[in-house]
Amino acid sequence: MADFELKIRSRDIGTLLRKIKNSNPDIDLAVIQKAYLFANAAHEDQFRLSGEPYIVHPLEVGLILAEFKLDTDTIAAALLHDTVEDTGTTLDMIEKVFGREVAQMVDGVTKISSIKSRTKATAQAATLRKMLLATVKDVRVIIIKLADKLHNMRTIMFQPPETQERVARETLEIYAPLARRLGMSKISSELEDLAFRVLEPDAYNDIKNSIAQRNTELEAYLDNVRNLLLERLRSLNIDAEITGRAKHYYSIHKKIMEQKKSFEEIYDIRAIRIITSEIRDCYGVLGVVHTLWSPIISRFKDFIAVPKSNMYQSLHTTVIGPDGHRLEVQIRTHKMHATAEMGIAAHWLYKEDPGALKKNNRTLAFLKDITQRPADLRDTREFMKNLKMDLYDNEIFVFTPKGKIIKLPAGATPIDFAYAIHTQVGNTTVGARVNNAMASLKTKLKSGDIIEIMTSKKGHPSESWLKLVASPGARNKIRSWLRRQLEAELKTAEEEKHRDEKRQEDKSGKDDKTVPVAIPQDEQIKLKSISRQKKTGITVNGASNVLIRLSQCCQPIPGDDVVGFITRGRGITVHKRSCPSLKRLSGEPERIINIVWEGSPDTLYPIKVAVEAIDRPNLLKDVADEISLGKTNIIKAEAHVQEGKHAVFKFILEVRSNDHLKEIIARLRNIKNVTDVYKLNEKVILK
Ligand code: MN
Repeated sequence: MADFELKIRSRDIGTLLRKIKNSNPDIDLAVIQKAYLFANAAHEDQFRLSGEPYIVHPLEVGLILAEFKLDTDTIAAALLHDTVEDTGTTLDMIEKVFGREVAQMVDGVTKISSIKSRTKATAQAATLRKMLLATVKDVRVIIIKLADKLHNMRTIMFQPPETQERVARETLEIYAPLARRLGMSKISSELEDLAFRVLEPDAYNDIKNSIAQRNTELEAYLDNVRNLLLERLRSLNIDAEITGRAKHYYSIHKKIMEQKKSFEEIYDIRAIRIITSEIRDCYGVLGVVHTLWSPIISRFKDFIAVPKSNMYQSLHTTVIGPDGHRLEVQIRTHKMHATAEMGIAAHWLYKEDPGALKKNNRTLAFLKDITQRPADLRDTREFMKNLKMDLYDNEIFVFTPKGKIIKLPAGATPIDFAYAIHTQVGNTTVGARVNNAMASLKTKLKSGDIIEIMTSKKGHPSESWLKLVASPGARNKIRSWLRRQLEAELKTAEEEKHRDEKRQEDKSGKDDKTVPVAIPQDEQIKLKSISRQKKTGITVNGASNVLIRLSQCCQPIPGDDVVGFITRGRGITVHKRSCPSLKRLSGEPERIINIVWEGSPDTLYPIKVAVEAIDRPNLLKDVADEISLGKTNIIKAEAHVQEGKHAVFKFILEVRSNDHLKEIIARLRNIKNVTDVYKLNEKVILK
C-alpha cells in the first residue's frame, strides 16, 4: 500500500486513457475520447494537491470503473464527474454532448458531494448511508461516487492532517459500509485499509509488519497445499485456479479488537480460495478437499445454495490441513468471485445472465424484481431504466434548508416535515416551499427534497390535515391540538349553558343529560358515574370539562356498543354504533371517537319503551306491576287504546343498562295479550 505514491506519479495521461479503452471491448471509444477531451478542457488550469494535472483524478476514477467492466455512459460520467462542481460547465452542456443519462449521473454525483458538505455526517452515518441509497435513482451514481472516494483515499496523503482524518472517518463510517451493502467488497476492503492507515497508523503498521514477518513461512505452506490440490484436481480433469487469500488489515484489526484475541490467534488461520468455471466443479473440488484433509463439519457453509443477502455465493469449509494447521477453503466460480468482489457492479460484467440474482435475494429486492421481468427487458439499458433504488421504499430522507436530514415515512407531506421539526412549527404552518418552489401542503415529498416551512401566528391545524399526514407523530400532535381546541370551545359553551340554566330553573322535560368528563390522551372516553342530577351533571376526577350528550335518536344505555361524535361546538354526542343517523355523519370519520361505558350500577337512564297489546281488563295494571317488579320507575306514561281492541302504551322508564332493559322487555312480553314490546325508535332492531 505504501507504493501508491509511486504508482500515481508514474501514471501519465496517455497510459491511463489507453488502459480505460483496453479494459472492456464493449466500450464505445469515441465517447470515451470525447468525454476525456471535454473534461480535460474544463479542468485545464486545475491541479491536484499532488501537483498532478487535475484530469488524472477523473481518469483514475474512470479506470477503476472500466476495470469493473461498467458501461460506456458510466465511464463517460466518471470522466466528467467533477466538471459541474468545480468548473464553469453546466449540466445542459453535458446533456447536449453526452445525452441525458450521462448528465443525470453527473448531477447525482454532484448532489451527493453537496449533501456531504452540508451535514455532520459522522453523527448520522447510518441515516446518511440509507439516504444515499434512497435518494439516488440510478445505482451507477453510487458506484461512481465510491470509485471517486477510492481514488481520493489512495491520494489522501497529500491532504493536510485534519482533512485526512475527517475524510478517513467519513470513509470508514459511510462509504466503506455502503460499498459492502452493495456487495462491492473489493472497494470496501481497500477503503477500510486506507482509512485505517490514516486513523490508527500504529495498529496498522503493527499488523502490516507482523504479516510481513510471517509471510515467507506462510507462502511456503500454502504453496505446498496448492500443489497437492492441483495435482489431484488435474487427475480428475477439474480446471481450477488456486490463490492465497489477500490479507485485509482492517478486518484482522477488527477481529483482534472484537474477539479480544492476539494477532497470532487470528492470523494463524491459513486460507485459500479455489475458483472454478462451473458450479458443479465447486462441489467436485469440495469432495477433493474433504478427501485430502479432515473437515471440521460445523464450519461447512453452502452459500451457493443459499446466497447471502448481498448476492454473495461460495462454499466455505475448514479442514485440518498439513502439519495439523487449520485451513480455511473458499470454493466458487469465476462469476461468483466477480459478484463477491464487485457486488452490484458485477451485473455489467455478466449482464447476459442475471439468474444468479434470483435466489434468496431479500435485501436487494429491486434486483430480484428486475430479474423476474421478461427476458427482453434484461438488456442493460432497460435494466437501468427500471432500476430504481427502492431498498428503503417505506421511508424517505429530506432536508431542512440548512442541510439537516429528516427521515419521514413514504407518502409524507410538508405537514409531516413541519411537525418533525417542532410541534410549534407544525401547529402554525401556513405554507411550504419544496426545492425553492411554492408547494401545496398536500405535496408528497420525495427523498432529497429540500423543504422550507412558512408559519404564521394565525395559522393552526385543521381536521383535514389528518388526511394529509403519513407519520403517527404528526397525526397525534394534530389530534391533540384539535382536542385542546374542542375542550376550550366546550368550556365556553358549558359556561353559557350554566347561565342559561340559572335563568330557567326547574324547567323539566329536558331530555339530554349533560355529562362533563375528562378525555384521556388515548382518546378512549370513559363515561363514568353519570349522575341523574339534572342541572349540572358532575365533574369526573376534577378534570377539564367536555360536554357529553346521550343522543336522542338511538338513546344508548350502558352495555350498548357506542361511539362518540365530536359535534361542532356542542360537545360530544354518544350514539350506538349501529345508529342510522350516525351513519349519515360518517363522512367525517376523524370526528368519531371511541367511548366505553364505565357507569356506576346506580346510574339510571330514561328510555322510551312501547308496549302493544290486545286490550283486556286490568291490562294496564298488569303492565305497571311487571315494570315495578323489574325494579324500574315509570317517569312518564301514555296510553292509546284504539276503538276496538288494539292498545299501545308508551313509557319513559329508568333503566340501568342494556341487560336491565332486556329483562324488563322480557317480563312485559310474558304478560297475557301483549303482542310486542320494544324500545321506541328501534322497533326493527329489537323485534
Ligand atoms: Mn472527484
